Parts: sequence; C-alpha cells; structure tokens
Amino acid sequence: MKLLIQHGRVVHPVTGEVVLQDLLAEDGKISLLERGLPPEADQIIDATGLVVCPGLVDMHVHLRDPGLTYKEDILTGCAAAARGGVTALACMANTDPTVDCPEQVAYVLGRAKEACGVQVYPIAALSMGLRGEELTDAEALKKAGAVALSDDGSNVDNANLMRDAMIRARRQELPILCHCEDTSMVEGRAVNEGSVSRQLWLEGRPAIAEEIMVMRDAMLAEETGAHVHICHVSTAKSVDIIRRMKKRGAPITCETCPQYFTLTEDEVLTKGSLARVNPPLRTAKDVKGILAGLKDGTIDVIATDHAPHSAEEKARSLTRAPSGMIGLETSLAITLTALYHTKKMELPDIIQRMTTNPADILHLPKGRMSLGVDADLTVFDPDEEWVIDPEQFASKARNTPFAGAKVKGRVKYTIVGGRIIYQDA
Ligand SMILES: [Zn+2]
Repeated sequence: MKLLIQHGRVVHPVTGEVVLQDLLAEDGKISLLERGLPPEADQIIDATGLVVCPGLVDMHVHLRDPGLTYKEDILTGCAAAARGGVTALACMANTDPTVDCPEQVAYVLGRAKEACGVQVYPIAALSMGLRGEELTDAEALKKAGAVALSDDGSNVDNANLMRDAMIRARRQELPILCHCEDTSMVEGRAVNEGSVSRQLWLEGRPAIAEEIMVMRDAMLAEETGAHVHICHVSTAKSVDIIRRMKKRGAPITCETCPQYFTLTEDEVLTKGSLARVNPPLRTAKDVKGILAGLKDGTIDVIATDHAPHSAEEKARSLTRAPSGMIGLETSLAITLTALYHTKKMELPDIIQRMTTNPADILHLPKGRMSLGVDADLTVFDPDEEWVIDPEQFASKARNTPFAGAKVKGRVKYTIVGGRIIYQDA
C-alpha cells in the first residue's frame, strides 16, 4: 500500500524547516521525502497550498471510558481526535473504575483497537482510586502499557506520597504528570480568585494554589531525579517558576492548553459554566505569561485537556456544573489562529509543541518527519476560515466556550500508518 502526498509544505519540527516536498508512505512508514516524486501510488493526495506535518500528539485527554461513557467513549473520543488532526493521544485515568491496575490498562488498549486508528496510550493512576493514599504498582502498569502516571483531576496533596511515587516512577522511567492545585485552597470553588469571583460573590481558586504545587513538584523532581511534567499551566508565575527550575536543572517539562493563551476569567461572565475549567481561566497578565513561556520554550507542549461533559451537566449553574471543556476538534485551529496568524510564533515551533515534544516526554516513537518512521501525518489548510459549530463534532460532548468563534486553519486529512482515517468532506 502506497500513499503519495504531493506538493505540500512539509514541516520538520526538529530542524525547524518548512520545505516544499512530496511524501511517499509505503507499508505504513515514510519511505521518501523529495521534490518531484513520480505520481505513482495506490492513493494520491494533492496537498497544494496545504501543510503536511507529523500527526498531532495530544498528551492530555479524558476519554471517560470505562464508566462515564455518557460523556464520551474511546470510539467517539478517537473519532474527535481524528477530526482534529490528532493521530496519537494519551488518556487520563480518572474514569470509573479508575485505571489503576493492569486490567484497566488492558481494557483501554483493547477498546482502542476497535477505534478509527488513532493511537491511544493510557496514563495510569498514581494512587489507587485517585484517593492519594496508596501508590499504584508502577512496574506492573508500565508492563501493561501505561506511558505515564497521573492523578489528574485531583492534586496529590500528600507530599510524602508524591515523593515516593517519584522515586518509584524514576526506576520505571515513567513520567509523572501533575495536576497542580492545592486542594485546600480550591475545593468547591468554580472560578479564578479575582475580579470575576468578586463580581459574582464567589470564593475563587487563587493562582497561588497552582504555583505553590508547581514549586513543590518541581523541587521534588529536582531532589528525586524523576521526570515531572506539569499539566495545564495557567499562570504567569507558574511559567516563571518552571523557567527558573529548568535553569537549575530540574528534570521538568510542562504543557498548557489553548484556553490558557486565548481566554481570561472574563469569559465566565458571558459563557457561564462552559468557561468553568480546572485550573480556572486567569487574567490577561497570565495569558501574556503563558505566551512568553510558549515562545521561549519554557512551555514544551500544547495539549487539550479534552474534558467532555453532558449537556445536562453543563446546563447546571456555574457553581454546580463540573469543570472542563473539550478541545480535540478545535485545538489546532485555535492555536493557529492565536499564535501563527498573529505572527506570535513560527509554524515549526507550534508544530513541535504539538508533536515532537509530547512524543518525547512520553517516550513515544512519534512526532518525527523522517524516513522510516510511522507515516502518522496531519495535513491541514492553514488559511481556511471556518466557524466552530459544536453540532458538527464527532465527540459526544459539546462543552466548549469556543462555539461560534471564527478560526483560521482546518484539518484536511488525518493519516495513521499511511492510512487516511479522516478526510474533510
Ligand atoms: Zn488536570
């Protein structure tokens, strides 16, 4: 089986080059990358005017399966990923039951085989039942196929437990993904502590709740030598802390999500519970800090934290609705609109943060544009304008504050192992 992609602008995220090249995929691998390849293949894509890059790797996704499949399941989550140009994703363990034992890891991997072809990498829980009391068996979980450990959704409040987890994770060469928000400062609170929380007469989630845990986990990483990855960084000071701790040599990486470099807490005033997310949307100053971190490489990754909820759940009042928003089908477009079309970042740097970097953090053989690697590819039109309409989503969920937003950049083909798994109609 041969797939030829002609006349595309091929992005090489490692070298930072964008080259007009043809790409031939043979037996699932990239076999040729040259100009003027003969038009001989089983399938030919004319990518004139389109960008061809390694398939997007989203390292922070909630597939809600097992147990919460009224929100999303592995099949619909993967279909949403494919529509968003995501060829590989890592899914969080806060399902029901929790993915805290090898049998649950096997369940996720088994279901993923029935999905559209998106590569699914399970993240296992760090503590049994995400209760923050007893550690999971890192060795057994890794053997079963888990690529990282995380209690995402909850902070690990017990510093001693977190330290022990890091010592064990280091032995297994598993990264620990940290949801950083001190529980005692955020429990039961829906929005950022600031002007909006004051306007709404609500107790807020202060920035310091995140920053204090970013600092703690970065220091524990430095001390234990474990690879700590900070999830969804949302404040300017968190970026500063991570920048300084990286300089000191702490083995840390981090991610942010499109909502944290495009939206502020004010969104809550117009979108209500759709703008409720943990950590919460912050201030304009924080958005600036996140952008600076993305530009200078302090922030390694753009992930989605795709967090589906039902319409009924999100229709509740701001204080009673669950936190989270979906992102798989809008992440690339929002990112291109906010960073590329505004000339804030170059295309290869953006693509690197959505492909090579997350793949490297999770030790996945993905995110490269070179001969012999899996032909997992995303082909997109960087200039096509469209309006985000949740009714078109493949996800079961519709909870996005970006509904109605005009964006520029549209996925045309999503390819896994040389096979087209999604094509824009
Ligand atoms: Zn989280």
